[in-house]
Amino acid sequence: MQLNVKNYKLKLIQPSQLVNGKIRKFEKSFVPSRTLPYIAALTPSDFSVSIIDETLEDINFDEPVDLVGITSLITQLPRALQIAEEYKKRGTKVILGGPAPSYLIEEVLPHVDSVVVGESENIWWKVLDDFKKGELEKIYFPNGTPSLEKLPTPCFNLLPLDKYLKPGFLFKTSKWPRIPIETARGCFHDCDFCCVSNYFGKKMRFRPIAEVVEEIQKFKGAFIVFTDDNIAAQPERAKELFKALISLKIHWFGQFSSLAAMDEELVTLAGKSGCIFAFLGIESISKESLLSVRKNFNRIENYSKIFKIYSDAGIQPNPSMIFGFDGDTKELMDETIDFLTKEKIPLMVQWILTPVPGTKLFERFLEEGRILHKDYSKYDGTNVVFKPKNMEPNELEEKFWEVFQKFYRISNIAYRLFYRLNKLTIFLLKRNLFFQNMVNRRIHPYSGGLE
Ligand code: SF4
Repeated sequence: MQLNVKNYKLKLIQPSQLVNGKIRKFEKSFVPSRTLPYIAALTPSDFSVSIIDETLEDINFDEPVDLVGITSLITQLPRALQIAEEYKKRGTKVILGGPAPSYLIEEVLPHVDSVVVGESENIWWKVLDDFKKGELEKIYFPNGTPSLEKLPTPCFNLLPLDKYLKPGFLFKTSKWPRIPIETARGCFHDCDFCCVSNYFGKKMRFRPIAEVVEEIQKFKGAFIVFTDDNIAAQPERAKELFKALISLKIHWFGQFSSLAAMDEELVTLAGKSGCIFAFLGIESISKESLLSVRKNFNRIENYSKIFKIYSDAGIQPNPSMIFGFDGDTKELMDETIDFLTKEKIPLMVQWILTPVPGTKLFERFLEEGRILHKDYSKYDGTNVVFKPKNMEPNELEEKFWEVFQKFYRISNIAYRLFYRLNKLTIFLLKRNLFFQNMVNRRIHPYSGGLE
């Protein structure tokens, strides 16, 4: 009989974001991250793994540990490097991975022992093997493009699950918080402000539908958040997926490109399979602005029809807007909110354009001398970190909050929600009031949790 001996202690850390130099903390978070539970599932059994979500828990730097793995999005990077330094002081080896370090290798290397660039499936075993031999390399590049077949199920049980909010009252049927599920990686498009196709590739990879279904069944009753950047990227495959979901009787949220609604059967099936919200990256109501970032496959003339198709399928359209494109003016920002109000959009989010490292936009703004600073903790879509064309940075930021607050004024909420009463109206009202509370305090409703 082989004994499962745990020889090494591995601590995986999801850092928080520094806000005015302080570590952002939440009482409760909305959606657990999939990344570290997934890395834990990829880790060989001679490691005992723990996970810290720093927004919810403090890090005990003095707890004995053999190896630390940190993942980082761009906004978390300054804090990730502070954490790395704390462990280095104690002589503990630190490995850093995730999208941000992958594009900022030179900047992060002095703070850590190794950087894992890109997707880690095909290389993680080697990193750990090298660690055991005392031969960690400085940089690990992906060893080919990982297949998405037979992926292990993320170890969500390593997270403090009671600290993640359950979805609204209509969906409180399960012991699980919202569970993020991945069905595909990559994107056929290549919008200038986005690094998805650079990071995961323009050639999309899909998980077998049976394996997606099997994974969802492990989280009985959970509200599912699909992490794909476009759940309908390949319409025929999406329809097969939605058909397979119908019998599971789940509720879910997913991101759709504006093109998905061109296939009404697809949207109808999404609704039948339990889709409640469709996050729509329509970004702008200006052709010029969309063209400036090569997202002109979004057709403004189709927006009203798209919203109606989702609504008719029982799905709440949840447009996501960006302000600060080179074609944007203050007037356009007002017009955008008026348009979405007129369309009686139940829920909307908006962001300030952010030139994230790894994107074409970052390279362009760097070349044009328009990057104001590289305090990446502020690259969160609520701060202006570049010189806009038609406004001063502070004017863009002020106008951003002004129109965000305007959309969530009580009169606006009433106008949008009480026109089309349905079983979700109370739920949507609560969501709108929550968003109102957040934006009035200038906190982004998608900042990740309740402070
Ligand atoms: S913004 Fe959306 S459509 Fe554009 S590249 Fe990114 S994921 Fe693809």
